[in-house]
Amino acid sequence: MKYFSKQRQENFFNVRIKSSGGEFSAAQLGAIQTLAETFGNGKIRLTSRQEISVPFIEEKNLANVENFCAAHDLEICPLGATLKTVTACQGSEICRSGIIDAPKIAREIERRHGGKIFPTKFLIGVSGCPNNCMKVDANDIGIVGAVKPIRGDSCNFCGACAKVCPVNALTVDREKNLWAIDENCRQCGRCVKVCPKDLRGEVGYKIFFRNDKIFPFVRGEETLYEIIDTALKNFCHTSKT
Ligand code: SF4
Ligand code: SF4
Ligand code: SF4
Repeated sequence: MKYFSKQRQENFFNVRIKSSGGEFSAAQLGAIQTLAETFGNGKIRLTSRQEISVPFIEEKNLANVENFCAAHDLEICPLGATLKTVTACQGSEICRSGIIDAPKIAREIERRHGGKIFPTKFLIGVSGCPNNCMKVDANDIGIVGAVKPIRGDSCNFCGACAKVCPVNALTVDREKNLWAIDENCRQCGRCVKVCPKDLRGEVGYKIFFRNDKIFPFVRGEETLYEIIDTALKNFCHTSKT
């Protein structure tokens, strides 16, 4: 597997360091600084796939860079037809809107499929909620955290849930004992957060595929991984090499 891409300048190469679910530790960043100052020209670039790229590495230093990265917990991105770095937003650990732990899911997909050779490169991204900050639907597979609201028995038709709905998908009418969600619900979970009674949210995943197929709501993390595993297996069988 190749790890260094040739630059326009003769004898110079570029290396990309993989993030882990969009994250680097401070120690890794320190090591990347040393890498760029020792083997590159001090320049560091960010890539669209949440990697850090270090350019201007001389050919004679490629083996040294590989050794340096191995010694400092820096994973080099392979070139060519592989699963590219799985991108992720900060997700529910940090973001107030977050529904799912996007970095954790990205790491698990990398653990299952990172380093495998595919017919062509394959892109997967994870967004923690329907705000979809990572624009994951531009990937071959995009995963978005979703919440399905489920009304409880003690609803008093106060209407607080309907007031915060950003797309007016909720209709509440105390006189008619009416509480209904229409098809515009974007599964953001805002209504669940404000309910003083027992409106609860079932957490799941919306999955986008490059061929425009969408799974609107998948239940369970293991089911999510099984769908990804199957999609990648099918991709290997149906793609032309
Ligand atoms: S997609 Fe949602 S969870 Fe992720 S950063 Fe954006 S708002 Fe936060
Ligand atoms: S906020 Fe809760 S109690 Fe009020 S109408 Fe909505 S579901 Fe019912
Ligand atoms: S989940 Fe979001 S979009 Fe759906 S009804 Fe609740 S507030 Fe509205």
